[in-house]
Amino acid sequence: MTIQKGKLSPLIKQATGITAEKGEGAYIISTDGRRYLDFTSGIGVTSTGHCHPRVVEAAQKQVATMIHAQATTVMNPRLPELAEKLGELTPEPLNAFFFSNTGTEVAEAGIRLVRQATGRPNIIVFHGGFHGRTMGSLSLTTSSIGLRAGVSPMMGGVVVAPFPHAHHYGWSEEETTDFCLRELDRIFVTISHPKETAAMMIEPVQGEGGYVPANTRFMQGLRERCDKHGIMLVFDEVQAGFGRSGKFWAHDHFGVKPDAIMIAKGLASGFPISALAASEETMAKGWPGSQGGTYGGNAVAAAASIATIDVIREEGLVANADIMGKRLRKGLEELKKDFPDMADVRGMGLMQGVEMRRGSCPDGERAGKILRECEDRGLLMLRCGPYQEIVRWLPPLIVNEQQIDEALGIFHEALRATA
Ligand code: PMP
Repeated sequence: MTIQKGKLSPLIKQATGITAEKGEGAYIISTDGRRYLDFTSGIGVTSTGHCHPRVVEAAQKQVATMIHAQATTVMNPRLPELAEKLGELTPEPLNAFFFSNTGTEVAEAGIRLVRQATGRPNIIVFHGGFHGRTMGSLSLTTSSIGLRAGVSPMMGGVVVAPFPHAHHYGWSEEETTDFCLRELDRIFVTISHPKETAAMMIEPVQGEGGYVPANTRFMQGLRERCDKHGIMLVFDEVQAGFGRSGKFWAHDHFGVKPDAIMIAKGLASGFPISALAASEETMAKGWPGSQGGTYGGNAVAAAASIATIDVIREEGLVANADIMGKRLRKGLEELKKDFPDMADVRGMGLMQGVEMRRGSCPDGERAGKILRECEDRGLLMLRCGPYQEIVRWLPPLIVNEQQIDEALGIFHEALRATA
């Protein structure tokens, strides 16, 4: 028997049947020449659309000048430039940045920082959260069993608290928030003493877990408890940040400030770069040598990130995400009236989820069929949630009215075709 050489791992599977040859704004053109409206944005990454001319120009210029200015060997001039720009966007006093490549790496850096800065071991995370796939960040991740299965034991020192997912619990938002804050207090007297609790880490809008926004009272409750006990509050803005929620940071919706922020995805329109933000004072409490890596803060990615921030600001993309997000939400709410299997529509800005149910059961199969029908009609979308029952909408921040309406029309047809 001859074995074929050089195959891709069978564990990597695509959600669509598309081989992408070219990207152009909100569109992907496949190798067979078909044009698709891309409402996946590479899992919320291509914030300025595919191949925005200014991002392309910045990257091309950098790639011809200096590609790998290894950040712990030489100073890469793009990094202080990027830090300065980001510093205009992060809430005070968060003015210092550690650059890496991926979301999971800044989660790992976050784990190291909160433990070293506080001298405490435990981290409280919230059920349904996603923070990455490497062993530390995976230990903080509780969005789906498929990620954790077969690789235990997890890292110790992680406590999972309930997230205010009112639709899941079947209670009002008030009741759910009361319950979650009560359970948090119970954790302090049963599982993790406040003096041994380094941090709480939370996505202000849960992504992979099902597109679930937290709420103001809950977030304020976390801030109060963190302030009272000297615990760090870390916001994972990897998916919901950088304009996607209709405000620059998802936590801006709640008026609650963090002690550190994890940033990735939309930061550079598709180039792998991520950042952990904290105050200089907090960063200085980390131990020397604890922030590094061969590729972190790559010069081409950093140049693309600077251009991305300029484009987001100059083209008013955060305001656009808000306006287009409201249009999308209104369209989905309208459809929900005619399709009771759309059990819930939720999210913020251009991060909207539609939960499919059959009776009271999560219906991942239906959500999968809807995606296939959408793809046949030229619209690419993704799913999320523990049962893959949530159809998620995450178009690029440059999306326009006509594209939103076209996508809603296609989704309507897909609902009918799968009813
Ligand atoms: N945090 C959140 C909220 C995410 O959505 C993701 C990726 N889906 C990550 C962390 C991990 O990012 P990466 O895949 O770049 O490691």
